[in-house]
Amino acid sequence: MSDLKGRVCEAVDRLEEKLRGVSRFIYENPELKFEEVRAAKLLADELAAAGFDVRLGAAGLDTAIVATHPEVSDGPTVAIIGEYDALPGIGHACGHNLIAAAALGAALAVGVVKGDLPGRLVFFGTPGEEGGGGKVIMAEAGLFDGVDAAMMFHPASHTVVDWGSLAITEVNIEFFGKAAHASGSPEKGINALDAVIQTFNSLNALRQHIKDGSRIHGVITDGGAKPNIVPEHASANFYVRAEENDYRDELLEKLRACAEGAALATGARLKFELVGHSYKAMKPNRILGDAFVRNLASLGWGLNPPKDRSMGSTDMGDVSQLVPSIHAYLQICPEDVAGHSREFAAAAGSEEGARAMLTAAKGLAMTAVDVLSDPRMSELMWEEFKGG
Ligand SMILES: [Zn+2]
Repeated sequence: MSDLKGRVCEAVDRLEEKLRGVSRFIYENPELKFEEVRAAKLLADELAAAGFDVRLGAAGLDTAIVATHPEVSDGPTVAIIGEYDALPGIGHACGHNLIAAAALGAALAVGVVKGDLPGRLVFFGTPGEEGGGGKVIMAEAGLFDGVDAAMMFHPASHTVVDWGSLAITEVNIEFFGKAAHASGSPEKGINALDAVIQTFNSLNALRQHIKDGSRIHGVITDGGAKPNIVPEHASANFYVRAEENDYRDELLEKLRACAEGAALATGARLKFELVGHSYKAMKPNRILGDAFVRNLASLGWGLNPPKDRSMGSTDMGDVSQLVPSIHAYLQICPEDVAGHSREFAAAAGSEEGARAMLTAAKGLAMTAVDVLSDPRMSELMWEEFKGG
């Protein structure tokens, strides 16, 4: 192990109690998307105390953080990314407390040796990953411009680095019909609920003919009030996902056609609206990922990839379509545990979770050393990114 890598690992060891404390605090004080006031302040304070030039609040998001290490010179720019939002009802069932602590640990550790390295080191605190798209908003504000390598860790039921995510778009569908007595004068009504049900039925007929790995899933958010009133309003909320951004857009049009058909069949008026939550597919950079895997292996942590192409969606996808990126998964629980479950929430607060967080902090810090110490690596990453 190089001297610099040895030093960043020692730094993480020295920071262990602090990082465990940060993870524990965020875990025990779950905050929903864009309300991560306490987590963001804690991270910003730690970075400021370590001498980083900290901006709390960026791109119009109060809980976003951009913290730059003061030693800046010509050379590559490395971004270490942290998330810290929780899920409604089940707290840190996505383990973002571990992501925050690992990213903080990596940034502080690289900061310790930054004086001996060229380039620029930036910590990005990216709020609202769970449906808010904090990174999408920060990317649109140009905050990732000039970055050569963006990296983060995510806890999981497997360890895998070269892994994609699905492009996703969220859609609200509303139908407006006409209320009438459902028994006395049903012929005078237009049934908005039937239009929603017909949309689901058409969609289910479509499923046989869509590409493997795509996902279209919805819930009915309004199905009327009482059986004796023909529902004048009904609505549903869908997520449309696919392995490629373009195919996700194609599926969106197919869903629109299903809804338009239902409107025509029932006479209800359709309102079809894209809402929030639209993430691009993850484009993992292999050169950056291979470096992380080698560093992980040197720490005694091997890969354990899933046997199927099980994928979710993340706003890190949008960052990965802008600059060379990795979104590395480290295992914190048995393989059969699902994300966003009670079991996963327990793992995010467990000793296994803490060990993965500390290992990820070292792996990210060592990979940052790789990028900062060798400008040729950035050239190769960009060549791969541009398809060269
Ligand atoms: Zn997550």
